[in-house]
Amino acid sequence: MPWKGENDPYLVWLSEIILQQTRVEQGLPYFLRFKMAYPTVNQLAQAPEDEVMKMWQGLGYYSRARNLHGTAKHIAGELKGKFPSTFGEIKKLKGVGDYTAAAISSFVFGERQAVVDGNVIRVLARVFGIDTPYDTTAGKKQITALAQELIDENQPGAYNQAIMDFGATVCTPQAPKCPSCPLQQICVAYKDGRIAELPVKSKKLTIKDRHFNYLLIKNEKEILISKRTSKDIWKDLYELPLIETSTPLKRNISATVADYLVTGEFTIHSYSKPISQMLTHRKIHFRFIEVELADFKSFKMEGILKVKVQDLHKFAFPKTIHLFLGQNNLL
Ligand code: SF4
Repeated sequence: MPWKGENDPYLVWLSEIILQQTRVEQGLPYFLRFKMAYPTVNQLAQAPEDEVMKMWQGLGYYSRARNLHGTAKHIAGELKGKFPSTFGEIKKLKGVGDYTAAAISSFVFGERQAVVDGNVIRVLARVFGIDTPYDTTAGKKQITALAQELIDENQPGAYNQAIMDFGATVCTPQAPKCPSCPLQQICVAYKDGRIAELPVKSKKLTIKDRHFNYLLIKNEKEILISKRTSKDIWKDLYELPLIETSTPLKRNISATVADYLVTGEFTIHSYSKPISQMLTHRKIHFRFIEVELADFKSFKMEGILKVKVQDLHKFAFPKTIHLFLGQNNLL
């Protein structure tokens, strides 16, 4: 991984933000693109927000991109371009939690701060037989205190990297390599046959269903889109005009579209089959409805933009909308 052994705190921070909730294979090309486009924190700070969002498109969890950009501006402005160098100062940056602050301060500045990510939790819970659920306050405290106690005094960065790599390659979630594991002799989970049980998680995720009905409204040259501005998923990304409903739209499609468009005369040409996308706590059900407006030219609606179809590629869309536009030869 190109950021291993990296001693520029900006690049370590960038990689850590990109890799939060993202697999390495998915995050790597994004890291390389960001590094190429914005080699310094000042260059990232100067980039237009829409450009940063566009570059982030497809990675998901878009608040990370906003925090990344906002924090770069804060470092370039208030901190005069100097990246903070201690765990406490790094943790004050927006979007940076204990894990990222520990990673940067130990990898780059050699501070004795233990990182606690999913890999570390799994290794420690198994080796020490910890069955306090790790997603409770008590469980977090117990694992963090243990991790901090174990960290190597002289090489905290190397130790952190090693235990994370150990969790990713040897003590894996499924089928850990116990027969060849160097910790087998002291591993409580191995001795007690509790590998599959550890680590313990208490909460079950509740998944909420949301129904997003998007209107494809265009003429030969222009198309209607809007920017998501409220505090919700995909904030600051663009989308097609949206009608969100609490249940799937079935027979009532025409009446629902008429309510939304208020005055415009329209014809519905087609609607797609429902498409679903899983996010962490939500399942989004998409429906794309192709609508022709009788008077596209004079149609106006608050928050709705008319843009040239040939300019659509300049806007960042959530993945499913991006795919839909591509399939319809609009991107
Ligand atoms: Fe993980 Fe198995 Fe090694 Fe224990 S023996 S640390 S469960 S790989």
